[in-house]
Amino acid sequence: MPLSDVLPSSSGNLRLVTLQDLANRAKALADEIHGKIPWFKVREWFKVTAVTFAARRDGSVVAVVSGSGRGLESASVEHVQSLTTHDEFGRPNMVLATNIPDTHAERNAVIYMAENDLRPLAGAAYLNACSPEGCNELVQKVGATMYGPITIATKKKIPGQAQYFWGDYQAWSRYVEHGE
Ligand SMILES: [Zn+2]
Repeated sequence: MPLSDVLPSSSGNLRLVTLQDLANRAKALADEIHGKIPWFKVREWFKVTAVTFAARRDGSVVAVVSGSGRGLESASVEHVQSLTTHDEFGRPNMVLATNIPDTHAERNAVIYMAENDLRPLAGAAYLNACSPEGCNELVQKVGATMYGPITIATKKKIPGQAQYFWGDYQAWSRYVEHGE
């Protein structure tokens, strides 16, 4: 389980990894959770799952799992629950982002982190971020850099990347305070 490397239960601290490394782990985890959807069309065409690692105020890290459309399928939710552990302070290492209907997975993650006082670190979605005027532009506007191999997996077949990591926290703060 890749998450165990990222989120030690005892210290609550993130082990020293690069943000790119964290984005890679988010990608593996997003693919794993998304892969639990049992129906081919839903899995490959209609839905996306994202995992975004974020830090709480106390520095502990949590994996924010978000879906798209009508939200995460029950098989994905059950898998997240099976992976979730709690540290000695009762904090879970994974949380499910609130699903805003018909909202993309990356946007659901961004909104959840902003509303829950979480500092974003790095993440990834099952498919490359949609563009133009999509999640690709959104995550960059709120301070992240897109990362990873170029793919054309989305419906519109516009090339893009599926992973992202943060660097510009002024942009993030602006978003948290003022919105888009
Ligand atoms: Zn999108």
